[in-house]
Amino acid sequence: MVSKRMHTSLENSICIRDIFEEGKKMAAVYGKENIFNFSIGNPSVAPPAIVNEAMKEVMDSEEPLTLHGYPANVGHPDVRTKVAEYLNQKYHTNYTMDNIIMTSGAASAIAILCNTFLDMDDEVITFAPYFWEYKSYVESFYGRLIPALCDQTTLQPDPKTFEEAFSPKTKFVLINTPNNPTGAVYTEDSIRMVAQILTRKEKEYGHPIYLISDEPYRNLAYNGIQVPYLTHYYKNTIVVYSYSKTLSIPGERIGYIAMESCVEGFEEIIATATASIRYLGYVNAPSLQQKMLLKCVDASVDISIYEKTRDVLYEGLTKMGYECIHPDGAFYLFVKALEEDDSRFCAEAKKEKIIMAPGSAFYGPGWVRISYCVPYELAQASLSAFHHLKERYDKGEIDR
Ligand code: PLP
Repeated sequence: MVSKRMHTSLENSICIRDIFEEGKKMAAVYGKENIFNFSIGNPSVAPPAIVNEAMKEVMDSEEPLTLHGYPANVGHPDVRTKVAEYLNQKYHTNYTMDNIIMTSGAASAIAILCNTFLDMDDEVITFAPYFWEYKSYVESFYGRLIPALCDQTTLQPDPKTFEEAFSPKTKFVLINTPNNPTGAVYTEDSIRMVAQILTRKEKEYGHPIYLISDEPYRNLAYNGIQVPYLTHYYKNTIVVYSYSKTLSIPGERIGYIAMESCVEGFEEIIATATASIRYLGYVNAPSLQQKMLLKCVDASVDISIYEKTRDVLYEGLTKMGYECIHPDGAFYLFVKALEEDDSRFCAEAKKEKIIMAPGSAFYGPGWVRISYCVPYELAQASLSAFHHLKERYDKGEIDR
């Protein structure tokens, strides 16, 4: 009945949403405050007040037929200009409205770019662990996702696995920093290494290999850490951005693709991406959300709340003897499972009412992801449950 491709894909996937729903059912039984549901990346910090104010203002001030009608597939010109100017001022780039395509979040932007670039069996390299939907996006367009495993002590890109992942069929590299699921911010050294290898591979294969930078967490970096802006390191970079996390509005579906005019094949890529918006049925990014950005392109949620929650979990867990890298961004903590089988470890954690996603779902076996976009108090209260879990392993009550 359904396609064989989708049937196989669904059979082989670990669905984080299912894990989240199970946690919700447990909350209904045991009480919300007693379930430590760290499974899903749904923002927990309120959107800045300016988001609602801007939407109301837009509804009151814009001419209704313009506001609610079809904009150009690539988006409203005034909005694209506003985004371009903001980026130029912040990152010293050279964007104009012609370099910006408004999209329904980062997810649709990646799908549009997959449709733009991929032919049957073309390859896309990504650094693993990676956001689980990448595989679905690439395979939906008949491509193959090739993981390049990060260094397991730093969770930074590893030059050896990266280099080995290339083939003549490599069309683009999909990079995500700050990273979901690890919370790592890739350092400037890592980015330079990635750019150097890409430049060498472009020469070797004699065709452009694009770097697609998926950046929904760019603004969620802590302790003043700077997230390198990748166009400064590699010419053929295409940036994908989303306001889902920066403004805590994932349900509103708004983001963009930004591409400098010096990117090889610029005109053809823009034309093909524009057609892809139509062919894939997005038609355009939501008009009201686009216009809202005219007033809050530089707004952000209060990230100090996430930072505080990260600190209590990171310090609490490492003090107990859990191993994790210090996460500098996003709202994820990647923790070594206390046994090899991360799914079994998650099942044991569930007995303590801790719900986490197994690393295997992200091509990171042996780890688990804690999504700490939860209330601070809940994170703090979870520490005794984590302590009890570790104690059961240490005492041999659970086989490793
Ligand atoms: N890329 C990464 C790494 C994500 O974590 C997410 C969502 O969690 C997305 C893309 C999709 O985000 P959006 O809501 O902008 O489609």
